[in-house]
Amino acid sequence: MSESRKITLATSWLDGCSGCHMSFLDIDERLIELADKVEFVYSPLVDYKQMPESIDVGILEGAVSSEDDLDKALKFRKHCKFLISLGDCAVTGNVPAMRNFFPLDAVFDRAFKENVQLQPQRPTVNVPKLLVPVRPIHSVVKVDLFIPGCPPSANTIWQILSELVAGRMPNPAQFTRFGA
Ligand code: SF4
Repeated sequence: MSESRKITLATSWLDGCSGCHMSFLDIDERLIELADKVEFVYSPLVDYKQMPESIDVGILEGAVSSEDDLDKALKFRKHCKFLISLGDCAVTGNVPAMRNFFPLDAVFDRAFKENVQLQPQRPTVNVPKLLVPVRPIHSVVKVDLFIPGCPPSANTIWQILSELVAGRMPNPAQFTRFGA
């Protein structure tokens, strides 16, 4: 990657718990150091509403569980030159994919009827259609780098971004593992 200008970085999330993004924020004061070399252009962590046409590095958290997730992943990939799949949900499906073991109707019943005392009912308004099965990101778009971990530690994210910023291809296995 060119070192003559700041690298543009975007993040987004699909079906996850935001924990991977929180881990990213746990980079803490090193975010300031990162900001010297990297420009955040789109993220749920910042206030930009428009996704730029071209983004150097994109980071996606979460699994593909719904039509909405699928649309997001396809659009994000289109805009990102280099895509990172961040966290076990993104890499394997992890927690969201646990519903793959049950019929979708049973999952809905469990979540919205059996465990609910007040007005148990299946939501139908403004709810994206769920996909079966839940899938990891690389099964719907090309991924350039996988960072496993639930969540990957702040140090891991920092090390890997530092390598990328320095123009080197990092080896995530040096810093993290599944469930780390
Ligand atoms: S990998 Fe873990 S921390 Fe990250 S979104 Fe999934 S459950 Fe949350």
